[in-house]
Parts: sequence; structure tokens; C-alpha cells
Amino acid sequence: MKKYIGVLFFCFALLGNSSSTYGVNSEMVTLYNELKNVEVDPNRTASVENIYIHRDVATFHLEKGTIYFFKPASISGNIHVTGALFIGDGTFSFTPSTEFEWEQVTRFYKKELFENQTFKQKINILFIRFADSTFIELEKKLFFYTASPTKAIKERKSYCERYILEKRNENVIYGILSSLRMNIKDGYFYAHISKENTVPVFFIYNPNNKEEVEFQNRVSELNYLRQTINQFHKQDDYEKVINFDEENKFFVFINHYRIDIQIESNGDFYATATITFEAIRNHVTMINFLIFSKLNINKVLDSDGSALPFIKEEKSSKLIIFLDNPLRKGDSATISVSFQGKILKKEWDCFYCKSSIFWYPRYGWSNRATYDLTFKVPQRYECISVGEKIDEKKEGKYKISRWVQETPIINAYFNLGLFKTYNINVEGVSPITVFMSEKGHRKISEYLIYHRVTFDKNIEEQIGADIANCIKFFTNLFGQYPYEKLYITELPFKYGKSFTGFILFPWYNFKILTDSGYSEIVRAHEVAHQWWGVSVGSKTYHDVWIREGFSQYAGLLYLQWILQDSKRFFEILDEWKEQIFTNRKYLIRNGVEAGPIWLGYRTVTSETEGDYSLIVCKKAAYVLHMLRNIFIDLKTMDEDRFKNMMQDFF
Ligand SMILES: [Zn+2]
Repeated sequence: MKKYIGVLFFCFALLGNSSSTYGVNSEMVTLYNELKNVEVDPNRTASVENIYIHRDVATFHLEKGTIYFFKPASISGNIHVTGALFIGDGTFSFTPSTEFEWEQVTRFYKKELFENQTFKQKINILFIRFADSTFIELEKKLFFYTASPTKAIKERKSYCERYILEKRNENVIYGILSSLRMNIKDGYFYAHISKENTVPVFFIYNPNNKEEVEFQNRVSELNYLRQTINQFHKQDDYEKVINFDEENKFFVFINHYRIDIQIESNGDFYATATITFEAIRNHVTMINFLIFSKLNINKVLDSDGSALPFIKEEKSSKLIIFLDNPLRKGDSATISVSFQGKILKKEWDCFYCKSSIFWYPRYGWSNRATYDLTFKVPQRYECISVGEKIDEKKEGKYKISRWVQETPIINAYFNLGLFKTYNINVEGVSPITVFMSEKGHRKISEYLIYHRVTFDKNIEEQIGADIANCIKFFTNLFGQYPYEKLYITELPFKYGKSFTGFILFPWYNFKILTDSGYSEIVRAHEVAHQWWGVSVGSKTYHDVWIREGFSQYAGLLYLQWILQDSKRFFEILDEWKEQIFTNRKYLIRNGVEAGPIWLGYRTVTSETEGDYSLIVCKKAAYVLHMLRNIFIDLKTMDEDRFKNMMQDFF
């Protein structure tokens, strides 16, 4: 199997202030702000009667009403109208392109909304933003008159815009701007649809997404967050039967990161990431990175040191960088991004990164890069990272260490603190080092004693031995442990994380062992990610069940083997089955039914919270359990066929 890795890139929105202080050409930044703050054009109001707008599988039928277009923007000498507000009567309808997505939409909407597998909703307000032919199409059918927008119109418009300005949503303005700049024919289209006094739904066509078509609704009445109900390919893709596995809509591929990081005793964090990348399509003029929302960007430079304009709004995780010269497919370029901010949480004399993935600028889903990381930290602390430590020296009050990762990996990470270390060397197993915060453990012990919770002493030795056993077991089951070392450390959070040869466990896992096997499963799950997730990745979000389900089942298999206890194994399997079947008790129809494993992160919505762990981990684990049962030789109970399949797949 090809090796891919997955990063779940949540869609967060952005926007920005930028870099006029560096004397750069800020034309694109100005244009971005102009598109964001666009006003109603008093010269382009029109009465509408019986007009249709067709966008992929959606139809907007504007029966009767008034349309207010927004003021045009000038892009490369061309004038573009990019928005309008319709008020009146109409109908919005769409037919999902696949049976699967049809089932998905019916999980959330009553069957009454449908006719012939088509979702239908009345329109009283339609707010659209676009970078396509919408204006040109409609202009021909309309007669414009001049009218200053009333206060009521302005208020409607600004209500609709709240869903665009919500920084955690994907960035509509970026969608418009990138479409216009790249001169894409089937450009970006965003529609906000609502009946009078009801919560809106959204239909989006984004030509730069692999799955271009999206249907969304509002998460809750408490905010303006949108969530995806449906997402699928454009109709044309299905008709041409294109190979979705080969389709790639990314602009660039990142080959290498050099990151220089400085951390002060109070947790202040400064870094410069020098990013080398290659354009994978023509006419790349801007790149949309993701970075932890609380980090601030100081400057962006190109390879000869001149400043590049960028947009990164406060509390937004989007960083849009504008390139000086458009790149053609195959061109390479290097940029450096300097950033700083409150990303570290200091606890127990250790510093933990609040974002394990977005602590540096990220791009793409399956992008594996090489890394060269230098950490300058106060001398008393120890820094541990992915890659090989090739140098460490003292300089003034700092300790400087350099870590190089030569084979491309998906995620880099580090941990910094005062650690007690414990080394485990077992024949045939890569060296394992456990890094544990002693001060933290004293604090936890005090807490546990106070709450009369029993805990284990000399935990590092037990954990080390357990990890070594996991590695032996999985090597036998899946194949050779893929990395030369394994660092084990802890997080003051409730979750674990697995990076290349580097695993973080939640702190309770370092403390309490006596919980009927759950600690072993959590630990073995993270260790199994070294094979499934870190080594073999996910090509798209649809495939994350492989890494999660395989790791979850691997955790349970380990428990069965280490405890030599099949009773506990079947008990836990039954618990998971019970949870899957009684989830929101959908069998007696009170709640949204659980979704399929293929939905990936889309299985989690405001109405199906907790379904990631339930469906993508536990239900997917059942897939592997089923395969194991099919492959087992029932006469001899021999598992070689299952083992061979797993090793072959790995
Ligand atoms: Zn996992």
C-alpha cells in the first residue's frame, strides 16, 4: 500500500492585517479587504421574476422579488461583481450526486423536504458571493434601476455576512479571490439560503476543493459557525468517471521545513520557518496556510529577503501569503515566515504546545516533508523532538539542539521540560526512552492521595516494559517497527498523540494502571499508530478509519495477548457494540442515526458529537475484527492468514 499520512485540516476562517510596514506591494491585501467589506451598489438594483440559477446539482428558482448587487471590484484591470442579495420568494433545491450523500442529508432533514431524492427549501433571502459568471448571466435578464439601500436591506446583508466573518468557518473571501486571480472558469460560488425567520442553510461550489460541492447548515444558535452535511465531487467528475485517487487540487507541495525555534523561561515562543515548496499547478499566486490562531505573524520574506504581503487576522488560523511572481507547475520556491505567540502551556515545569499540528505553517493533507529543527531553550530544560539529534551545545543561558529528519514525515513535534528519563533496551526492539516530569508526578500523586485514588509507583518502568511488549507484539503482527528510536512522553491533556518515533500519552496513563485494561488499550493504540497513521497514512479524510480502526483493534488485540485473557477481550468488544447500537437510541428514532465509517471527521456534527471515537475508531475496529474472523482457520485456530494479510497491507 502506498504510504500516505493524514492531517485533519479543520476549516477555519481568516482574514487579515498585513504587512504595509515592510513596504511591500499590498495591492492584494487592499483588494482582499475591499471584497470583504463590499457594499450594496445603488446603481444595480433590479426586480426579478422567474429567474433560474443552476450551480452544479443545485437550482435556485427566484420567483418574484428584488435583487441588490454589490459594488464591483477591479482585478488585474477587469471589473468583477462578486455578490448580491435577493429578497422575495423562491425555491432552492439540490439532488446529491451519490446515494451515500442522499442518505447523509436525510440523517439531518426530515423526509418531507424531499421529492425524487431532491432536497427542497423555500427562499425568502438569498445572499450570494461568487467569482463565476453569475453576474454576467443575470445582467442579461434584468433591468437595473438606481435606489439607495434601505436600513433594512443593509441589516439583512450584514446578518448574512456574520457567517462569512466567523473566523472558524472556511474563508469565503479567499475562495473568491483565489478563483478570480487564477482565472478559473467555473469559479467559486457561495449561497446563504433562508426562509423568513429560520436558520439558514448554505450551498458552496469551490473549484479548488477536491470535493467541490458542499451543503452546510448552522451549528447552533449561539454562534455563526457552519458545518458540512454533504460534500462531494462536481457532476462533471462523475460523468467523466475521473480517477478520484489521482485528482489533486492543491497548489503546492512542501518538500522541506527548516524551523528555528526560541523559547524563553516564561513560555514566550518565537520561530522562523523556512519553507521550500514546489508548485503542482500553473499560475500559483497565493498560498493559504493554516497556523494556530493565537500565533502572530511578524513577517514573510521570499528567498532574496524581500517582504511578501500576507493576511492573518487576529484569532484566525488562516495565513494567506501572496507571491511576487506567479509560479508554474514544477517551479520551486522558498519563503520564510517569522511568527510568535502564546502557544505554550507551562505545567509541572514542562512546556506543552497547545496545537500539536498547527504550531508552524501547514499546507495540504498528505504532504510529507523533511525537517531541520533547531531549538534554543533555557539551559536547564531538555528539548526532545522528532528526527535525529545531530548537535547540542550551550550558548550563554541557552541550550541549542538541532534535530534532522531525513525521510519525509507528515508532522513534526517537540516537548520541553525537566524530565526524569528511563531507557529500555530490549533485544530486537529499537531503543525506547521514557521522559517523565517528576514534579508533575509529585503533584498528581498529592491530588490522587487526597481523592483516595490508588495509583502505581515506578510507573516509568512499567510503561517502558509495556511499550517494549507492544512493539514486539505489533512487529510480529504487522511487520518491523518502522523507526530507529521511540521517545515516550506525556501530556497534561486527556488525549494521546503519535508522531514519528515519538509518542505522547495523557498524564493519567502515566499514573493509573489499574483500570481493567483501558490504559493498556490507550497505550497500545498510540503505539500501533506508529504503523497505522504515522507510517501508513490516509489519502483523504475518508480513509482515517483505517488508521483509527486498526489502531483501536490493535490495542484490544494487545490486551488479549498480554493479559492472556480472552474474556476481557470479548467483554470490551461487547461494550463497544452496545455503544454503537444504542448511540442516541436511533433504533427507536430519537436522534440522528450513526453514520458510516467512510464519513471520517464529517461523522461529527453538532447533533452527532462523540461519533469520531465511536464510529471512526470503534466501529472501524469491528471491520478488522470481522476480517480476522473470516481469515481465521477454525479447525486449528491458526491466525497466519490474518497476519499475512496485515503484513502485506502494511
Ligand atoms: Zn488514534
